[in-house]
Amino acid sequence: MMVKKKIVVLLIAAVLFISTAPLAFAETPYVIDSGISGNLSWSLDSAYTLEISGKGKMGMYSNTYYNSANSIFASSAPWGKYYSEIESIVISKGVTSIGSYAFSGCSSLKSVDISDSVTTIGEGAFYLCKSLTNITIPDSVNSIYTIAFMSCYDLSSVKIGNGVKCIESQAFSNCTSLSTVKLGNSLNSIGGYAFEDCRSIKNISIPNSVMSIDIGAFQGCTSLESILVNEGNLYYLTDDSGCLYNKDKTLLVQYPIGNDRTKYTIPDSVNEIDFYAFSECSSLTQVDIGNGVTIISPDAFSRCDSLSSVTFGEKVQFIGENAFYGCSSLAAVDLPAAVKEIESLSFPDIALKDITIRSRKCSIAEDAISLNATIHGYTGSSAEALAKAYGYSFVSLGSLPECKHNVEAWEWTDGNMCIGGTTVGICILCDETIFEKRVALGHMDANGDGQCDRCNAHIKDETQSKPQQSANSGSHWYDWLVEFFRMLFNLFRH
Ligand SMILES: [Zn+2]
Ligand SMILES: [Zn+2]
Repeated sequence: MMVKKKIVVLLIAAVLFISTAPLAFAETPYVIDSGISGNLSWSLDSAYTLEISGKGKMGMYSNTYYNSANSIFASSAPWGKYYSEIESIVISKGVTSIGSYAFSGCSSLKSVDISDSVTTIGEGAFYLCKSLTNITIPDSVNSIYTIAFMSCYDLSSVKIGNGVKCIESQAFSNCTSLSTVKLGNSLNSIGGYAFEDCRSIKNISIPNSVMSIDIGAFQGCTSLESILVNEGNLYYLTDDSGCLYNKDKTLLVQYPIGNDRTKYTIPDSVNEIDFYAFSECSSLTQVDIGNGVTIISPDAFSRCDSLSSVTFGEKVQFIGENAFYGCSSLAAVDLPAAVKEIESLSFPDIALKDITIRSRKCSIAEDAISLNATIHGYTGSSAEALAKAYGYSFVSLGSLPECKHNVEAWEWTDGNMCIGGTTVGICILCDETIFEKRVALGHMDANGDGQCDRCNAHIKDETQSKPQQSANSGSHWYDWLVEFFRMLFNLFRH
């Protein structure tokens, strides 16, 4: 009897065990912590899914020390203490913003589901979420604030919604695995360093809506083979090489530094090479800088370690800080007479053996040039003075040639174009003040209202001025045009 009972009990136990065993494995997650923060409530379950729900904005938090011994920073939000355990986050419908640093430092976070009620993603919201692999920003979001996704090292794919107008500075900087970026079609501005050091991006397509791209936005994107801008964009364009320019091609914004071309020619239309434009390009060995370039911005060619030949256009005036810093293959440079300023650490590399400075007057930072280099310049020039002051070897190019003055901006000291007079301007090569007499071109009154179209002077005696004009009106225009082109020629003859 007792034995039978025991068997029945065992059988029941076995049946119970078999029927409950699968349940034990697929156990429904239960809440392990929860609370209220501002308008919203949060709960964390045993599967380490954090859910934020309610209506309205999320609070603003900071990135705070959690483990000072291991220098671990994470969110000061009430759920922040679970920074190493949270695996997924659900932002429920009704939540309108993701607060600053809300989820910073969540090192195990793999997935985020953002509801389409969210309109902003706060500063540093997902900073250092180093296990996050992909993110989809819904169309409801209009702004992604500074450093929102900075240093998400595993983030490989980002799809930015069509409502996003603004990606602030460094928003995705240092996302070193990021290879696929889809920008939304309402995007207006890409902040400075927004995708800095995203070393896996190969191609990026800039939507037509983009109006501004701040400096360094794609700096250090060492895999970037091309930047694509559609013809419909009113502010930017790309050339056949995938290089990004402003629309009138006066500013070279970013060269695709991951492209394996070895030579690039900067067209004459370019006046300015932007900050970091070629920085860290290791494939280019030769760059020819066009004759329109006046400004080489700071860091423009820094760390281009294969670059061995650079020809400088004749109008280069300014060479910014670190412009050729770390160009370890550049042994010689020849700078044109127009150069006025060479900033700190622009040619500091010990590989540089010879630098020719053809300017007569030029401001050269004392640490601009490697002490290894020999400076070649004219006797009596700023280059010679620098060489003497800091002990460089100096080779003279001879005595200073007579300046072929180059005045970029003339002003009238007396008179005007109509009545003739004198103009004055500063020569950009020698700083001398230059005066030039101008011939009178006569007044111009195309509509016959008795007032000069050019200088607004009242042409009092119509009987005298009229026959003069009508008899000779063709050549009057002609004279004026000739003078105009003569002035233009003077401006650009150097
Ligand atoms: Zn001059
Ligand atoms: Zn006039």
